[in-house]
Amino acid sequence: MRMNISDYTAVSLAAAIANVEVSPFDAMTEYLGKIRDDILLNNFINVCVDQALDEAERIGRDIKNGKRFDDKKLLGVPVAVKDNICTAGVQTTCASRLLSKFVPDDDAEVISRLKRAGAIIIGKTNMDEFAFGSANEYSAFGSVRNALDNNCVAGGSSGGSANSVAAGEAPLALGTDTGGSVRQPAAFCGVVGLKPTYGAINSRGVIGLCPSMEQVGTLSKTCDDALLLFSVLSGRDELRALDGSVRGITVGVAKEFLQAEKSDGVARAFENAIGQLKALGVNIVEVSVPSFFAGLPTYHVLSSAEAMHSFRKVVDAYPDTVLLGDEVKRRMLTGATVTDGENYDKLYIKAAKVRTVITAEYDKALSCCDALLSPTAATVASPIGGMTDPQQEHMCDSYLAPVSLAGLPAVSVPFGKENGLPIGLQIIGKRNAEREILNIGKALMNAVR
Ligand code: GLN
Repeated sequence: MRMNISDYTAVSLAAAIANVEVSPFDAMTEYLGKIRDDILLNNFINVCVDQALDEAERIGRDIKNGKRFDDKKLLGVPVAVKDNICTAGVQTTCASRLLSKFVPDDDAEVISRLKRAGAIIIGKTNMDEFAFGSANEYSAFGSVRNALDNNCVAGGSSGGSANSVAAGEAPLALGTDTGGSVRQPAAFCGVVGLKPTYGAINSRGVIGLCPSMEQVGTLSKTCDDALLLFSVLSGRDELRALDGSVRGITVGVAKEFLQAEKSDGVARAFENAIGQLKALGVNIVEVSVPSFFAGLPTYHVLSSAEAMHSFRKVVDAYPDTVLLGDEVKRRMLTGATVTDGENYDKLYIKAAKVRTVITAEYDKALSCCDALLSPTAATVASPIGGMTDPQQEHMCDSYLAPVSLAGLPAVSVPFGKENGLPIGLQIIGKRNAEREILNIGKALMNAVR
């Protein structure tokens, strides 16, 4: 009988494999079949067919032979990995022609941790070139097509990762988030995207260009799966399972989140979520983060400056910069401009100061509640090719960038739809409060089930 792999979450698949109800080889075969069937979604730059099947077979054999795997939380579970995370012996391109032949010698720390937990890398996912973008249309390997509407974008820059989970091609995926790149595609694809606290997950071996913001994040169908993957990546084994109970907690809504631009559907979902939380016994309080509207320009000045600096190292090794796409070039140019001459003080240092204000305001807002609620993105996914103005694309990140500047953890959970496309809501937590925000996410998702 053909198993219905899309019925499994990572938690239930890991349990079924450990209990010898599902063979890891059969599960892997199903996921690989799904990737093949959906090839037009363009979620993967490289599928690790042979390695993944070999590994699944070996694990299956060991389980049958009675080997004990008590410490392996992800035994036999396939994980899709964004292509800016180094995988030993497997091409890692950052979706750039510049790195199309780069094969790292070593695994990134997160890959080592996944493997130690028994997970199997199923393939490397499509992304915006060097992780700059919000639509996954700046990939040298072509756009990702949203699994729920093939004419729409999947969001970016971790578009292939979010969309592979949405399409049922992998139960879990890794992304990276500098200014929204896990949360925004999660919202567009209707999955859960967690950006952990800055520094919570070791980023050795991630080809990141903005070291002061970039963070590996998780994509999954449920908040329980996000917690499982996060605990493996961060080594935080003490995190209790989620119970979805939120009675008595306090959630803050900043008035700037209410004022900021958003589509009618997103506005309705946001109000509806506030109502649902109240009905579940949550105290809703109004707070304020007046620097909210400065978040996006501040993010762009700082991230471009950092990227330009980091990129020098890449270019030393791979000087053929004619191979770069336009958006990467624009960011480098911005980075050079904002740090040049008197702009250094006027723009770069000023942005660094504004960052401290933003951080202080978010911390202050969070001092009178347990978490903040906002939309993830101002709209649902747009049609492929529909966003021709880079400025308009950068606008996608207004709810996300300030959170990255402040280094706070945040999760996007699917909550309602507009024009048939998923809407995401963002729950922002105090530092290291990943479990708490995922628990609120679980409560919200249960409320709309
Ligand atoms: N969309 C944002 C940008 O284009 C976020 C990128 C990211 O988080 N890597 O910069």
